[in-house]
Amino acid sequence: MKIGIKEWDLDIIKDVFNDRDQKLILDIDMQDSGDEYMLYWKHENSGLYSVKSAYRWIQFNKGRWCIEDKASIWAKLWSIKAPPKTLNVVWRALSKCLPTLVQLQIKRVQIEALCPVCHVDSKTILHILVTCEFAQHCWDILGIDIQRFKLTDFIDWLTEVLSTCNLKKQVECITLCWALWRAQNDLVWNQRSSTVNKTVAAAK
Ligand SMILES: [Zn+2]
Repeated sequence: MKIGIKEWDLDIIKDVFNDRDQKLILDIDMQDSGDEYMLYWKHENSGLYSVKSAYRWIQFNKGRWCIEDKASIWAKLWSIKAPPKTLNVVWRALSKCLPTLVQLQIKRVQIEALCPVCHVDSKTILHILVTCEFAQHCWDILGIDIQRFKLTDFIDWLTEVLSTCNLKKQVECITLCWALWRAQNDLVWNQRSSTVNKTVAAAK
């Protein structure tokens, strides 16, 4: 909705929703009623958005929400004493909300999804943070043999890795994920390439 006027923002609707949902939204006549409109977040009784309820909702939909499961990757992640910015990147990676090129393609943004670092594989979250040749060298230096762990999905991979690490190494793993994400962003958006050593140094 455009701010201050009762009119749909077509650009945002086309970017975010599929054809069916676009039609359903646009069929709602905003001019009909004299009532005031407000956004209502249905996962809170107050109708006001909160990160906590959004997080629960996302995890619940993925079948991963379990408050009592202290061994879960989610509980584990927030118990790690890494800088908040690094935990935030990993949390978004685990939630599949890091805007990788593949994720953008899923949202129907027309772009080439080949990894900008190696130009070999699709730029998925697992690829950028783990299996890309550049990332593999970084993990090697950190002393993590990525092949020892399940490489089907980032969440599976990280769960296994963290379960084998001591607290200090867990922080380094989380920080390396953040450093890898920052390195590829620097390359894509600023055309600045990083080295393996510099990327790993940021994680120590
Ligand atoms: Zn790559």
